[in-house]
Amino acid sequence: MDIPLQQFAYFEGAFVPSDEAKVSIATHALQYGTGAFAGIRGYLDVSDETVNIFRLPDHTRRLMNSAKIIRAELDLDAEGVAGVVQELVSRNNPRSNVYIRPFIYKAGLELTPKLKGIRSDLAIYMMAFGDYFAMDVPLRVMVSSWTRISDNIIPSRGKVTGGYINSSLAKDQAEEAGYDDALLLNTDGKISEGSGANLFIVRNGSLITSPINSDILEGITRRSVLMFARDAGVPVEEREIDRSEMFVADEAFFCGTGAQVAVIGSVDGRPIGSGERGPITEQIQRTFFQCVRGEDPTYGHLLTRVPVRPA
Ligand code: PMP
Repeated sequence: MDIPLQQFAYFEGAFVPSDEAKVSIATHALQYGTGAFAGIRGYLDVSDETVNIFRLPDHTRRLMNSAKIIRAELDLDAEGVAGVVQELVSRNNPRSNVYIRPFIYKAGLELTPKLKGIRSDLAIYMMAFGDYFAMDVPLRVMVSSWTRISDNIIPSRGKVTGGYINSSLAKDQAEEAGYDDALLLNTDGKISEGSGANLFIVRNGSLITSPINSDILEGITRRSVLMFARDAGVPVEEREIDRSEMFVADEAFFCGTGAQVAVIGSVDGRPIGSGERGPITEQIQRTFFQCVRGEDPTYGHLLTRVPVRPA
């Protein structure tokens, strides 16, 4: 089912009605997956009449890094793209939480699968967005038989369109086997991440996450969780995670723009800890939601506030 887009999109340098933002079927990015994208949440703060965009400058910086990996150049820099995002949010005047998708793509029509010299462009669309995962039921996760793409195949560090075939294969396998999501191992057999979220586990009171050279996306929520934990005095470790550590972990959760902070209750049918949300997960989840709702002044600097008008 198609998800309705908000009224306006940014396309070929202008704000246009979303249904007019169309590309040729020969577009290089469509044929070869040569695009780089960002996924950003805006939380409607009803009392304030603003949309709080979570870590916008971090998202546009990572987008530019992903674009660099695929040699996609724009006239705009990261600040310029952030400015267009704010303008688009303002024009759409959303009355719900939203998901914003800036996309830098190879817009040329060349037939050759290569990167250099193919014209790039920026498109941005947005949609109303609720929870990606159930927030009240712990997730059932399986370790996928699909291996995470490694840096020397398609860099996971970049949020690159073609790389999401790997996530899609793992997600389908998990859902068809009756699970909510997959955990992927990298080519070294270590845990990398979920199909669209980074992983944290808790062992003996420490919060542990795979390092950025474990073939993960350098997640912005992951970085935020590390900050929330350090600020709260919870010990953190960025180190490789073995598959069997999932079986002996006290707690586990996914984090990401879509996932937010989502409790993992079991892996391959084995409960993690009690199988319910543990105390450290609860603390991180609380801090995260207070932050994005604009309720915690300590983390106000993580939000870009765009004024919106009441209906
Ligand atoms: N890993 C993958 C593969 C993802 O698609 C995402 C979602 N962007 C994440 C991790 C989480 O990253 P972030 O917190 O920046 O959204």
